[in-house]
Amino acid sequence: MSRILVTGGAGFIGSNLCKRLLEEGNEVICADNLFTGSKANIRELFANPNFEFIRHDVITPLYVEVDKIYNLACPASPPHYQYNPIKTMKTSILGTMNMLGLAKRVKGRILQASTSEVYGDPDSAHHPQTESYWGNVNPIGIRSCYDEGKRAAETLCFDYHRQNGVDIKVIRIFNTYGPNMNPDDGRVVSNFIVQAIKGDDITIYGDGKQTRSFCYVDDLVDGMIRLMESEQGFMGPCNMGNPGEFTMLELAEKVIELTGSKSKITFESLPQDDPKQRKPDISLAKEKLSWEPKIALEEGLQRTIEYFRGVCL
Ligand code: NAD
Ligand code: UDP
Repeated sequence: MSRILVTGGAGFIGSNLCKRLLEEGNEVICADNLFTGSKANIRELFANPNFEFIRHDVITPLYVEVDKIYNLACPASPPHYQYNPIKTMKTSILGTMNMLGLAKRVKGRILQASTSEVYGDPDSAHHPQTESYWGNVNPIGIRSCYDEGKRAAETLCFDYHRQNGVDIKVIRIFNTYGPNMNPDDGRVVSNFIVQAIKGDDITIYGDGKQTRSFCYVDDLVDGMIRLMESEQGFMGPCNMGNPGEFTMLELAEKVIELTGSKSKITFESLPQDDPKQRKPDISLAKEKLSWEPKIALEEGLQRTIEYFRGVCL
């Protein structure tokens, strides 16, 4: 049993992670400023005496005594991270610096939630993306606050390791979906499901031929814990995602089929710098962690649809 801090623990992935860590018998401190997360996501956890919630913004230091830190605090959906891009950058950089400083003081281990966005709009020579690819990121576009913030956070992790010996683990998460996504999150899976359930138009941005690879949250949480518990010295960065690759048009059609919705597909303009394709190479996670996702898109979508029917209807 460990005492574990989860920043961003009231968000989509964080709340699923807190639940799983509690089920495994750990003490969990969830620190979140509730920007995109909610108390509803962690409501059932309050009954557990091993769970504690602190409303806290990671851009200011946090003094707690913990063994392990999962640093997830950061808005992840484009409309939310672009709402206040300067704050997004502060959250990634100052927030990660504060959590690395905490890990250094308590001599604890820290897992940094990085992202496939560090690869930006990957060129076709680097498809699927391996961890050795340095990426193709616009430093001054509307996605840059998130992409460059997360890249700088990775740099900070490796510099705290080299300079101060901090025990780091860096995970590069690819598009993940599942229960506890906010219905207003703005990312594609929640948008399409909520639109389909309500009978609204399904909004495809661009021609819908761009691709993403979608990982169900239970698989991701399993991989995150495996990485946190992995042998000392294996720091990553380590890709985690489901290599199944789909166009947004295929996703929309699948959601319509599974919900039995009468929604129509509409096409809207493509946001600036929207990556054309994305698919993880997960050889490293397979080799080092014996991890690979188990839940196929159709099954994961069915579970997620069931969740959204409960919160939207
Ligand atoms: P989310 O928006 O649901 O969760 C983020 C949480 O962080 C929210 O609870 C929010 O309130 C909190 N937060 C934001 N800024 C904060 C701050 N300054 N101080 C304290 N708390 C703050 O997003 P998510 O999908 O659960 O993402 C969790 C983490 O995983 C993020 O770091 C994100 O970058 C990373 N990630 C997610 C995905 C994905 O597909 N879901 C992909 C790549 C990386
Ligand atoms: N997208 C879409 N309709 C929506 C929301 C998103 O077609 O209602 C597209 C978006 O342009 C992108 C893909 O879906 O090409 C994935 O978008 P998301 O915001 O989920 O994640 P990211 O672009 O960060 O991978």
